[in-house]
Amino acid sequence: MSDRYAVIGNPVAHSKSPWIHAQFARACGHDLEYVRIEPPRDAFGATVEAFCAAGGRGANVTLPFKQEAFRYCASVSARAREAQAVNTLVLDRGPVWGDNTDGVGLVRDLEINLGFAPRGRRVLVMGAGGAAQGVVPSLHAAGPERLVVANRSADRARALAARFEGATGCGYAELADVKFDLVVNATSAGLAGELPPLPPLETLVAPDALVYDMVYGRDTPFLALAREAGLRTSDGAGMLVEQAAESFLVWRGVRPDTQAVLASLRRG
Ligand code: NAP
Repeated sequence: MSDRYAVIGNPVAHSKSPWIHAQFARACGHDLEYVRIEPPRDAFGATVEAFCAAGGRGANVTLPFKQEAFRYCASVSARAREAQAVNTLVLDRGPVWGDNTDGVGLVRDLEINLGFAPRGRRVLVMGAGGAAQGVVPSLHAAGPERLVVANRSADRARALAARFEGATGCGYAELADVKFDLVVNATSAGLAGELPPLPPLETLVAPDALVYDMVYGRDTPFLALAREAGLRTSDGAGMLVEQAAESFLVWRGVRPDTQAVLASLRRG
């Protein structure tokens, strides 16, 4: 029987993870099955237990369960503890262990695929939900000159930033006087065709800035605005593939090559 993995989310029908992990498994010569599981919103724990009992060896966790997964795990990695969110469960090595690969996925996409090192740069993260929680620790560890978290609910941004020395949190209206080199949109606004209430981009970013939206597989008003302003842009497809590769490494002990999978994902 193939080794069994899954992505657990609600909704999850759109998830590209089964396809990505099937490509990794083929390239690495591993025999595994990777399925989507969509539990009711109040049944995360029971779903993990049932999957485990059915032989599940590991799972990815996505919206809206990442924070619940963090609380559910018997123990977690240092990076999951920093994020207070889990996107990777290991089920075949004793009590459930959780990890978070979103942050390393984003930083690998920035540094390796896009040639942008956050070290010494001014970085703005928009959003303070599960995705922002996942990436702020890794961006902070990458050594930016400045790290600001802005969110519609400013208190959430302040609470997230307060966990990282030197980082600051604020509402969008308070963003002023910094020309950011990197802006990461970690909000879900683009999924609804909306734009966070930003000040004008020309007051917010340096002319050679990289503007990144973690949403993938669709254009967002934020990326369209940045393109119109002549800025360099990227969607979150590279992060998606890189965080999946890191999960594969955690489960299978080998890091799959991401370039062919990312190119194929972008071709659609
Ligand atoms: P979440 O926990 O529900 O958080 C949503 C965030 O978006 C909150 O900060 C919320 O602000 C903000 N927001 C929502 N609508 C907004 C609007 N119209 N204007 C301004 N802010 C708005 O969701 P999440 O888990 O963080 O996911 C966020 C996005 O990241 C999703 O689109 C997801 O697909 C993407 N993502 C991508 C990857 C990848 O690998 N590429 C990985 C993880 C997540 P408030 O706090 O004020 O409500």
